[in-house]
Amino acid sequence: MTELNESIFREYDIRGIVETDLTDDAVKKIASAFATIYVRAGKKQISIGMDGRPSSENIKNIFIETMCSYGINVVDIGLVPTPVLYYSVFKLELGGGIIITASHNPSEYNGFKALLGKNALSGDEIREIYEIARDERFPEVIGGGKIESKDMVSDYIDYVENDITLDKKIKVVVDSGNGTGGITGVPLFKKLGADVIDIFTEVDGSFPNHHPDPTKIENLQDLIAKVKETGADLGIGFDGDADRIGVVDGEGNILWGDMLMVLFSREILKDNPGRKIISEVKASEVLYAEIKKNGGIPIMWKAGHSLIKKKIFEEDAILAGEVSGHIFFNDRWFGFDDAVYSGARLLELLSNSTQTLEEMVETIPETFNTPEIRVDTTEKAKFVIVDKIVSIFKENYEVIDIDGARIKFPDGWALVRASNTQPSLVLRFESDSEENLQKIRDIVEPILDKIVKEVESST
Ligand SMILES: [Zn+2]
Repeated sequence: MTELNESIFREYDIRGIVETDLTDDAVKKIASAFATIYVRAGKKQISIGMDGRPSSENIKNIFIETMCSYGINVVDIGLVPTPVLYYSVFKLELGGGIIITASHNPSEYNGFKALLGKNALSGDEIREIYEIARDERFPEVIGGGKIESKDMVSDYIDYVENDITLDKKIKVVVDSGNGTGGITGVPLFKKLGADVIDIFTEVDGSFPNHHPDPTKIENLQDLIAKVKETGADLGIGFDGDADRIGVVDGEGNILWGDMLMVLFSREILKDNPGRKIISEVKASEVLYAEIKKNGGIPIMWKAGHSLIKKKIFEEDAILAGEVSGHIFFNDRWFGFDDAVYSGARLLELLSNSTQTLEEMVETIPETFNTPEIRVDTTEKAKFVIVDKIVSIFKENYEVIDIDGARIKFPDGWALVRASNTQPSLVLRFESDSEENLQKIRDIVEPILDKIVKEVESST
């Protein structure tokens, strides 16, 4: 018997090491816990898919067998990017869906992202999965669940092909990082009529070329080099399970998620004036200002794809997106995060414009910001530190505290929040000049240093 490792049950998903955390026995318990919540919610049929890791097939089989043992019918959609799993739930109107994936994590990892109905499971719900699995509070085994295999990849490609038209030829480099994004991304972009140069398209869960995480600059170097070499209009990278997009322009400059959101929000508000658009506390002030300027209603929300997935439906927002590259379209699409669909929308945007991507980026007001800065601390200390930062800065500054402290300065802001997935703090700074950016850092960082030391020594 395996004792379940509680720490693999995280804020937005479940992720652990196969050999130790996700033994067959542990996987069966977790599957039974998922079955419990589907049975309780009266869900009769769900879809199950998987990424290309060496362990995924075995875990998927255990999940399918377990679901069937509790009388739940399963649509087995096989090897797919995560967005195709979401698509299957929306399109086939299923009771939920589970994808076996550890996103961009190394190959020894695996895990689960899940929908109950159309809602992504997160926070307390994932906590409950852990408690049910730990206590083995499972329903009666009644058997009888049926398995049906379905090719949702072709269905998905047809659907998007019908939705999107490119008015002119766009030359794009696509880097799937040997994750699952190339399964849909490469054939779809070709069908749309783009001139596609693809690299690392073959699914290989050992990720032999680079880490499939396009939020890290080092992972974008191959893409940047290929864009320059081929004179492409842009480059698109997918993370391991293709729910996050990375973009570089024709000159090889990186566009982070919030800047991409500026371009998408301008476009979408033309047809949808007055609608809400959601981003998160890490996003540039420029994005919120642009949404407002273009007649939309900006909403700043907590970071985390599961939380944004819920918020977009609660607010009936038309678009949402994170700096990390999770982009959610809810106009002609279903409101879930999908790097392949977002990539197709970017191609459409470019094909409708006389501007190049570089020229579009030049129209965004200039701002100076840092990337995400991680400061290691302990699991215990991180929330205490953030609470202290909130109360100290509230004395003299305006502080948005929906997710950590976003401290407002006359010419910029600083963010100090607790990571939901690691024992660390996440910082970001932005201002209107390099000089002012440094000034903000010089105010915040020494105070933070002091508090980190104090809290770490007392917890
Ligand atoms: Zn991912």
